[in-house]
Amino acid sequence: MGDLVKHDYLKVFAWIRDKYPSSSYKVLYDLHCIILGLPLNSLDTITQKHIKQSYSQILPCYAPIEAKTINKYLDLAQEQAKLAYAHEEIPIGAVIVKDDRVIASGYNLSKKSNLACVHAEIEVINKAAKYLNTPYLPDCDLYVTIEPCLMCSGAIINSRVKRVIFGALEIKTGAVFSQYRVFENKNVNHKTEVYGPIDTVKYSKLLQQFLKSKR
Ligand SMILES: [Zn+2]
Repeated sequence: MGDLVKHDYLKVFAWIRDKYPSSSYKVLYDLHCIILGLPLNSLDTITQKHIKQSYSQILPCYAPIEAKTINKYLDLAQEQAKLAYAHEEIPIGAVIVKDDRVIASGYNLSKKSNLACVHAEIEVINKAAKYLNTPYLPDCDLYVTIEPCLMCSGAIINSRVKRVIFGALEIKTGAVFSQYRVFENKNVNHKTEVYGPIDTVKYSKLLQQFLKSKR
């Protein structure tokens, strides 16, 4: 069996589980049998164990988000960044989406709060947790205009956000790719999937304009 086929059927099972979380491993074993042309229910326990291990190595793996959905919610995050700009805050905006619905939106409030830690991501995580009345957000996607910093990446993992989607790279402070690669650490309990940078030119424009005006 080629690597591509092997990888794809594991992925297909991950997407099925994303949509139907109660799907049992039997579905995975059946997919394996179909790919190899074996009779269903013919796998021994050792083979099943190996398949399960291969599957766990590709996680997290959710059904892909469509480009139009990414653009829609990143643009809403961008609207928040514009509000921040209007209030002379650092123009970074974020939204949290659950079941294709925005449940929290916000922007950086460091100036107003006099606290360096009130970044857009922290703001929306707190709002979403309050709204859902839970500290954990495993069914939520966080959209943010700029690559999260080290503090926010930690907060995203600790609050168990499902996926983080960011607009632009932030070369000096970004902790997804630029300065650190926090989400690639396999030793953390929760794995958040990352999408981005989606469009660095588009989503970094406002921040650059803001920083220029402060020089
Ligand atoms: Zn941050």
